[in-house]
Amino acid sequence: MKILVINCGSSSVKYQLIDTDNRRSLAKGMVSRIGMSASVLTHKPFDRPEVKVSGEILDHIVAVEYVVSILMSENHGVIKDRSEIEAIGHRVVHGGEKFTESVLITPGLLSEIRNLIELAPLHNPHNIRGINACQKALPGIPMVAVFDTAFHHHMPASAYIYGIPYVMYKRYGIRRYGFHGTSHKYVSARAAEMLGKPIEELKIITCHLGNGASISAIKNGVSIDTSMGFTPLEGLIMGTRSGDLDPAIILHIMAREELSLHEANTLLNKHSGLIGISGVSSDMREIIEAVDENNKKAKIALDCYCYRLKKYIGAYTSVLSGLDALVFTAGVGENSPIVRQMSCEGLDFFGIKIDEGKNKEAIGKEMDISAEGSQIHTFVIPTNEELVIALDTEKIVKESLNS
Ligand code: ADP
Repeated sequence: MKILVINCGSSSVKYQLIDTDNRRSLAKGMVSRIGMSASVLTHKPFDRPEVKVSGEILDHIVAVEYVVSILMSENHGVIKDRSEIEAIGHRVVHGGEKFTESVLITPGLLSEIRNLIELAPLHNPHNIRGINACQKALPGIPMVAVFDTAFHHHMPASAYIYGIPYVMYKRYGIRRYGFHGTSHKYVSARAAEMLGKPIEELKIITCHLGNGASISAIKNGVSIDTSMGFTPLEGLIMGTRSGDLDPAIILHIMAREELSLHEANTLLNKHSGLIGISGVSSDMREIIEAVDENNKKAKIALDCYCYRLKKYIGAYTSVLSGLDALVFTAGVGENSPIVRQMSCEGLDFFGIKIDEGKNKEAIGKEMDISAEGSQIHTFVIPTNEELVIALDTEKIVKESLNS
């Protein structure tokens, strides 16, 4: 089946056309700066060079029209007619407690996703915009919502309940939900394949280290704890987000700096993490460059980032009562030997030992980087969230056609 995977942000639409029969990506790209000056579509067919097209892309509907046109274009296209797109899979960030797996999008379902905006005001509105845009640009094609939260649905209450009055959970749904579910699901399944063992018999920790970052403890194929919480702000130190914090700090800063709720939100989500500590960049590559140039604050940022990660690896090894595999994925996880080395340093007593040479070699490719004789396998596995979304979409659409 040819499935168009859509991931919509406030001013961007990322897409990928995947043929699920052979699990191949036919083309992928991104429309950026939607509604701004100099909007641009970057498109890469699997067998030809990347192209950039600029245009006046006023909204997400026009963006999807651009995507469909280039997918069908003579020079850069990979299909002849829009009818070749058999289904569309949408990444939806928050599924709340209601959506424990991917679902077919119907008008009723859309209004339920709308009801979740309160839980994910920064993300779900854009995802809904993407769904509406596809309904207009590609009418009649079945669409599926794949939720970032769904994979974490089976966490026990001990992992998802916060130490605040229980009534807050009941009244406002305040609990840990977890995010990056499709990525944690994909790389844990790949780790099991690489170990040649059924995932139902394995204890795996997956570290998704992108601009946003989260770590998950996966027991027998089920996520039993994860570091992102009620929102994607909790847990690891990220590019621009603080991660774990004494909650009193924000109250204190708001009082001292006379910040509004909106400003406090921006401080924690956009001006904290690597950029906040270092003042250099939110991009790990630039942090590492600055560390090499002896920038002290960049060094503190890198140390904090890796220390927090190590702390979680230790905590989740306890939560899992042992460990078979540790996985690094996403931009930093796939490409940064130094982060992997620093966050695993001194963990030999757990059985985690990585090979220096293999670690340096593993840049953006699937590899077992464990040292010989290491009890626990450490893997670098490039994530493929789009493939998970495409496969889920195919499954749900086929089920709905058969029912
Ligand atoms: P997103 O969360 O936006 O999907 P990615 O998974 O693409 O992000 O990760 C982006 C981050 O990956 C960048 O901000 C950068 O810090 C990091 N990154 C990419 N390449 C490297 C590299 N070679 N070394 C260190 N970090 C890298």
